Amino acid sequence: MSSLHPETRAVHLPSPPLNGSTPIAVPLYQTSGFVFDDPAVFADGMGRPDGAFVYGRLSNPTVRALEDAVADLEGGVAAVTAGSGMGAINTVLFGLVRSGDHVIAQAALYGATAAALTDLENRFGVSVTYVPQDDPAAAREAVRPETKLLYLESIANPMTQVADLPGMCAVAREAGLISVVDNTFASPVLCRPLEHGADIVVHSMTKYLSGHSDVLGGIAVFADDALHRKVWAYANTLGATLDPFAAWLTLRGMQTLPLRMARHCDNTRLLATRLAGHPAVDAVHWPGLSSHPSFGLAAKLLPDFGAVFSFDLAGGRAAGERFMSSVRLALLAPSLGGVETLILHPATTSHRSLTAEELARSGISEGTVRVAVGIEHPEDLWADFVQALEA
Ligand SMILES: *Cc1c(COP(=O)(O)O)cnc(C)c1O
Repeated sequence: MSSLHPETRAVHLPSPPLNGSTPIAVPLYQTSGFVFDDPAVFADGMGRPDGAFVYGRLSNPTVRALEDAVADLEGGVAAVTAGSGMGAINTVLFGLVRSGDHVIAQAALYGATAAALTDLENRFGVSVTYVPQDDPAAAREAVRPETKLLYLESIANPMTQVADLPGMCAVAREAGLISVVDNTFASPVLCRPLEHGADIVVHSMTKYLSGHSDVLGGIAVFADDALHRKVWAYANTLGATLDPFAAWLTLRGMQTLPLRMARHCDNTRLLATRLAGHPAVDAVHWPGLSSHPSFGLAAKLLPDFGAVFSFDLAGGRAAGERFMSSVRLALLAPSLGGVETLILHPATTSHRSLTAEELARSGISEGTVRVAVGIEHPEDLWADFVQALEA
C-alpha cells in the first residue's frame, strides 16, 4: 500500500496504457476473451492469476483494475471478484472448506451468509459453531482439530455489533485457522481487517464500494498470494464471475468512497443522537452511542461508526408499520450503502422468517426499524423522521 491517503488512492486509479498515452478513466473492456499471437503466452495465462488476460471467467482488465484498487485500499496483495457479495462469500467458503471441516462463525451474521453456512452443514457435512463476535475465549474454546476457518463481520446487521478483530483473529492465527471478515458495513475507509490479523476480507460491493444502488458485485481480498491463488482457481470453477460493466460502475463509484463515507457517518451521528432523545423511541442501536454494547470496542477500532443503525419504536409493531408508511424522503427498500437513505422493518421483511424467540435473541423487536443513512442534507432527513414519528 502506498503512503498516500485513501482519499487520494481511490481517485488515482492506474489505467492500462495505449500507444503513447493512457486513458484518464479506466476503460470498460466489454469482451468475453482475448486473442493471442503467441501460443506460449496463451498457455501461461491460463495457469496463473497474474499472467496475460485469457478469458472473462479468469480475468479482465477492467475487473483487474477494480481488484487492484480494492486490494490497495484494504492493504491486501490481490483480490478475486464475483457477481454479488454472496458470490464472493460462497467462492471463498466453497473454495476453502471441505466436508468434515469445522467452521467457527460469529452468531450475528448477515442472513444469506447464515443460510450458506447452514447449507454447508446440512448438505456438505461441515460443522459450524457460533460464538459471540467479541469473545476470543469462546472462539478458543470452540477450536477442534478439524477447525478450518473463523468467519466474522466487522459490523453486523441490523444491531451493529462490532467484532473484536484483533482478539478473534489472534485466536485464529494461534490455532492455524483461516480468518475471513465481511467488511461490507465498515468499508475500507473505517476498517481494514487485514491490519488486525485477518487473512481474507470479503465485501458486498453492491453497498458502499459502488455506492449508487445501481450494481451488484462482491470481492474477496487476500493477505497472501497462496490463498489468493487457491480461491482464484476455484472462482474459475464456480463461475460466479463479475461482469466488466459492473466492475466499471463499481470503480466509478469507488472514487468517491472516502468522501461519501464521511458524509454517511456525519448524517448518521445526527440522526442517531437526536432519535435517542425522542420520546417515541425506546432505544437506538449504533456503535457510536455510549449506550451500545460495542461502543468501547468501536471507539478503539474504528475512526467513525458507520452509517447503518436501528431504533426501536416505543409503540411496537403498529408503530413500526406506521413509521414505514409515513416517511416521505427515506425510501422503503432492502440494501444499504447507496447515496439515498433506505429504511426497512426487519420483523416484516429481512427477518420475517425468524420465530418470535429467534427475533428476541437477535435483539430485534417488532418495533425495530433499520436505517441505512444516505448523503442527503441531514436536516431534511431529520424533518422526515420527525413527521413520520409524529404521524
Ligand atoms: C448485502 C450483504 C451481503 C450480500 O451481498 P450481495 O451483493 O447482496 O450478494 C453480504 N454481507 C453483508 C454484510 C451485506 O450487507
